[in-house]
Amino acid sequence: MLKTALLTLLLSLGTLLPQTVLARSLVVTVYLHDDLAGESDEQINTNFFGHWLKEMHTITQHPVELIFRRNVEGVTDINYAGKPSREVLDTFTAAIKDSEAGKLFSHMNKHLLMTRGSYDHRGLNFNAGIAFQKGNTAIASVAVYGAAAHEIGHMLGATHEDATVNFNGWACETYTKPRLPLRSNCYRYSDKNRATIVDYLKYNSN
Ligand SMILES: [Zn+2]
Repeated sequence: MLKTALLTLLLSLGTLLPQTVLARSLVVTVYLHDDLAGESDEQINTNFFGHWLKEMHTITQHPVELIFRRNVEGVTDINYAGKPSREVLDTFTAAIKDSEAGKLFSHMNKHLLMTRGSYDHRGLNFNAGIAFQKGNTAIASVAVYGAAAHEIGHMLGATHEDATVNFNGWACETYTKPRLPLRSNCYRYSDKNRATIVDYLKYNSN
């Protein structure tokens, strides 16, 4: 009796092993710029990441970790005001490269700089974020609620082309749709981008 029970336990552990051991977490480290000192982690989490985490848990069972970091010299004090978004992203990327030097590179480690201000102002237009497509670094402003999820989506392979406008009582944009006023957030990725993200996590976590 005891023998059977033990055997069963070992077998079930054996079948669980490949998934639990090999599924490396997606780790998103969010660097909160010094100009967000007035916003608590809880506020930032609720406004920008609560809906995103819910979406991630809807589309995948893959473990997702979100880490907030503040007061990181050379990173959270980057002077970005009036600079082109691409230049800010490059500065951030170089700083992360330095701080991650010596660590094993993984596509499962994403780094996002969040700033109060937005970028590339042209009249009434501005940019709320920029990312390297399938890369590990991105920047996003708190000026737009969906910006962080939009840029994280790009790092996980989601594209503008595959984003959709859905209808949830009002026209809403899925996360990587470029924003237009009057359209609300769907707080989710499109079906195609969901599939892309799930594939990306599977491919890169082995
Ligand atoms: Zn985009």
